Amino acid sequence: MSSHQESGPIDTSVAHPARRYDYLLGGKDNFEADRESAHRIEEQMPTIRLTAQENRWFLHRAVRFLAEQGIRQFLDVGTGIPTSPNTHQIAQEVDPGSRIVYVDNDPLVLVHARALLTGDPRGRTAYLEADLREPRTILEDPQLTEVLDLDRPVALLLIAVLHFIRDDDDPQRLLATLIDALPEGSYVAATHVTLEYMSAEQFAAVRATAERQTAARSGTELAALFDHPRLTLVEPGVQSVSQWWPQDAPQPRPPVEQVACNGLLARVG
Ligand code: SAH
Repeated sequence: MSSHQESGPIDTSVAHPARRYDYLLGGKDNFEADRESAHRIEEQMPTIRLTAQENRWFLHRAVRFLAEQGIRQFLDVGTGIPTSPNTHQIAQEVDPGSRIVYVDNDPLVLVHARALLTGDPRGRTAYLEADLREPRTILEDPQLTEVLDLDRPVALLLIAVLHFIRDDDDPQRLLATLIDALPEGSYVAATHVTLEYMSAEQFAAVRATAERQTAARSGTELAALFDHPRLTLVEPGVQSVSQWWPQDAPQPRPPVEQVACNGLLARVG
């Protein structure tokens, strides 16, 4: 039993990605169905918790790097249930005036959004309930345009969210809409679950367990999504999140076979 028995739009009897991920990170905002789903995946992929943690650490490194590059505006799509430190805590550590807009389509994240809005009063944070599959709605939302100046560089963060966008939702087109709204000097950071570092048997087993909503894409497929004329990948390009700037990550680094997630960072020209 969880202490959070929500009613209304939140269906707790069906596993949900935000709550399952919260559970994998050791959080408390999840329900039986989420935990069962996590355990089913864990049976096939014992390193799923490590993958979740490594994904989160990639977010930390990427946001710190971007803030150190002078980026002061962040659009974090697929925020997830708040897990400290969140994007605004890292960015505002570098500059308290940093502005962050969080976006997620899970009503449960909205319930916890207050924790995302506790930023430094010298900066701004906002939370929008919106769907990545409707990028124009995100870009035109008054809450976004009030906080972010789209004439100045923005870092678009798509951390562990693109695997919920299926090919028939045309992720490349969705991404292009967002990228084309960003001025030169902006950045995009993304991570994506991949099955490429596994055996064929394990791959088949995980595929069978995952809900239809999940699309694991290889590093090559991920790079293809970001094949956009204005983007230049920051070295080392698409890499397992465990090996992306490993010198700045907690040591020792786990081998790529144990971290089923790729990451990338790209500059908008
Ligand atoms: N970015 C965080 C959380 C990842 S969990 C991190 O990496 O730590 C994935 C999140 O994406 C979940 O909260 C889920 O609700 C959200 N999500 C899934 N599909 C989405 C969509 N189409 N639009 C917006 N958010 C989505």
